[in-house]
Amino acid sequence: MLPDLHCHTTASDGRLAPQALVDAAAEAGVTVLAITDHDTTAAYDQIVAVPEGLTLINGIELSSRWRTIGVHVVGLNFDREHPVMQQAVTAQMQRREERAERIAAVLARKGFTGTLAGARALAGREAVGRPHFARYLESIGAVRSVDEAFQKYLGNGKAGDVKQMWPELEEAVAWILAAGGTPVLAHPAKYDLTRTRLRALLDDFIAAGGRAMEVSSGQQPPTLTRDLAALCNERDLWASVGSDFHQPGQSWAMLGRYSPLPDSCEPVWRHW
Ligand code: MN
Ligand code: MN
Ligand code: MN
Repeated sequence: MLPDLHCHTTASDGRLAPQALVDAAAEAGVTVLAITDHDTTAAYDQIVAVPEGLTLINGIELSSRWRTIGVHVVGLNFDREHPVMQQAVTAQMQRREERAERIAAVLARKGFTGTLAGARALAGREAVGRPHFARYLESIGAVRSVDEAFQKYLGNGKAGDVKQMWPELEEAVAWILAAGGTPVLAHPAKYDLTRTRLRALLDDFIAAGGRAMEVSSGQQPPTLTRDLAALCNERDLWASVGSDFHQPGQSWAMLGRYSPLPDSCEPVWRHW
């Protein structure tokens, strides 16, 4: 039994197409797979054959806001066709689109026109973001490099650093619950929170109906796994695991590879 309940495809910012990802996961020995693209389940519509021995579970990684920070909520084992989830995915896409329009407006005031269409062409099926605007500015010779585009226009604190307005954590959790799924707090260690703030985040997540947290996210130090396992058990949450795979060649996030889940934890997949 080898679950991997967190990974990405070309439907968001991953490099493998959905079918290639599923095949690679099976090849890596994964037996239970959830594809958790950012704010979309589009990958599932592109899979034609699930390899033998692999169970595919519905998944998504929703962007949300908690206090002043961005927090990711993974949804697992929900109904993809549920109207609440379909509306949620549409709303998240619109949020990204509106942000791209605001970035384009900022760049227009700097004298660069047509950047939205340019960035969109570079993004293809991906959601348009700052890297696409940077690459477009480079392509028209407005800057010499993507780095320069960030330094001058798009980087933190620059005019084009337009904040994304994500829904509240509670709302993202509610969408997953409405669609019959399990809300999982993604990679709790990646928000750079003090222990006190992380406990506050867990409190709010649980109050909203959150049921699980990722205790193991890719390769991580054993001390961190122990810490997160203790927090998970302290809060009576189920434990999830995943690689957060985006592309081949990243040793810390290979399909099916993550620090082992301590025996003390209650695996989320036992409840499906
Ligand atoms: Mn990503
Ligand atoms: Mn994430
Ligand atoms: Mn992820």
